[in-house]
Amino acid sequence: MRHSRDGAAAAVLDQDWDVVVVGGGNAALVSAMSAHDHGARVLVLERSDVTFRGGNSRHTRNIRCVHEAGTPYNTGAYTFDEMWKDLCGIGTGPSDEELADLTLRESISVPAWMTAHGAQFQPPLAGVLHLGRTNTFFLGGGKALVNHYYRTLRSLGIPVLYQAKVTEFEFDGDRCTALLVEHAGATHRLRTKAVVTASGGFEANIPWLAKYWGDAAYNYLIRGPEHNDGLVLGKLLEAGARSAGEEKGFHSVACDARSPKFDGGIATRLDCIPFGVVLNNRHERFYDEGEDIWPKRYAIWGRNIAYQPDQIAYAYWDSKVQGMFLPPMYGVFSGDSIGAVATQLGQDPEAAEATIAAYNAGVARDASGRFDPAGKDGVSTSGLAIDKTNWAQAIDTGPFYGIPMRPGITFTYMGVQVDREARVRREDGSRFANVFAAGEIMSGNILSSGYMAGFGMTIGTVWGRIAGREAAIHVRD
Ligand SMILES: Cc1cc2nc3c(=O)[nH]c(=O)nc-3n(C[C@H](O)[C@H](O)[C@H](O)COP(=O)(O)OP(=O)(O)OC[C@H]3O[C@@H](n4cnc5c(N)ncnc54)[C@H](O)[C@@H]3O)c2cc1C
Repeated sequence: MRHSRDGAAAAVLDQDWDVVVVGGGNAALVSAMSAHDHGARVLVLERSDVTFRGGNSRHTRNIRCVHEAGTPYNTGAYTFDEMWKDLCGIGTGPSDEELADLTLRESISVPAWMTAHGAQFQPPLAGVLHLGRTNTFFLGGGKALVNHYYRTLRSLGIPVLYQAKVTEFEFDGDRCTALLVEHAGATHRLRTKAVVTASGGFEANIPWLAKYWGDAAYNYLIRGPEHNDGLVLGKLLEAGARSAGEEKGFHSVACDARSPKFDGGIATRLDCIPFGVVLNNRHERFYDEGEDIWPKRYAIWGRNIAYQPDQIAYAYWDSKVQGMFLPPMYGVFSGDSIGAVATQLGQDPEAAEATIAAYNAGVARDASGRFDPAGKDGVSTSGLAIDKTNWAQAIDTGPFYGIPMRPGITFTYMGVQVDREARVRREDGSRFANVFAAGEIMSGNILSSGYMAGFGMTIGTVWGRIAGREAAIHVRD
């Protein structure tokens, strides 16, 4: 094994640490600060370079926490009971009710803790997300949040090694004794008394996704960084960690098909669906585009498209609704007929015209008079194989518009099982003595399937605090 001698890196890699944190996103940074607050000497290993540090967390905008009264950053109360009801209403409800209950209770103190560690919030704004009461928005978004946290780490004297990829764990029974870290072309053996794994999900590992989704997975776009390939998760599972959460499960949204394969972030998401119709590449409508208001159902469209032939779909709308949603970042295709738009999208113009004519025939005569984009308006088609149940106006007023869409995978659900102290459980029912997990790598303990906006950052912050604290206590005791 070669040892790099490049100054600062050599200095941190040659030392023994109390707690090594694997990852550089929200859960990792929170874990590091929490471990430090509880007296541990901490090192952070981030696989990315400094520019792209922060994993999926740098793409985020808000966090969802219980607050029993309004705050300067929320328009009103969001009680424990309401958040619990919301959590139970998504997917098949929480995976582990005890851990989910703990997550919500701990979330109450999260915003104050975040502020004390450098985070800044912004007052609620009216806008397309309608989340100002339940969710608290980061001033400057997730990128600013992680930058604040990195600054705090620096002021606390917690070193961060960038471009440091953890590839292996060494165990002595139930105890992790060392990590293998690739850095600057060399592999290093790093000794530690405890490790917090906060390296995200495995959404960027297409062959792993293909185990459950087949070749379709090769057509998915990954909204976050290529680094979240589940290498650490895989190593923990190999070492006997028990898995938690649905292995096939992921959160996904409809993204512009022209987006980069990885790391397109928030700007490639498309908000046009409720305002028009969606056709697959057989020129068929396949789902009720007006099922519910944005953003409640936004997460369903990634999966809907994932189940379509070639994992591609096309949204069409007309000039009556153009401008009512966030403009797609790569622009839209437009023309003076549906056929003209379809041709540009690579669809058959006559087939697309025919499907949209059939849809228009199901639209109520007074639809446009009753159309109300501010809420579910009940303006429905009738008599179609798949009716559109809200915002169903005819697509008849040029110019017409269209866009190609693919599933954009946000994160995966399957991770490692943990106990109330964030210690990773083993297949045989015991626990690793000094291995802890926080964030997306353990979110399957809380979320079975389905998602509520802002809850990924809640899980990362709550469990990062717990994992860091418990790792430090483990070292101290
Ligand atoms: C576009 C987008 C928008 C989102 N918006 C929101 C939102 O507004 N609110 C919300 O709550 N959630 C949101 N989410 C989900 C949220 O990003 C995640 O739930 C959260 O960031 C997970 O945090 P984490 O720290 O567990 O993982 P990440 O932030 O993804 O961090 C994982 C880290 O591990 C590092 N890493 C990976 N492998 C290794 C290795 N082998 N060695 C060393 N380091 C490694 C990565 O480089 C990265 O730094 C969004 C996600 C996306 C993609």
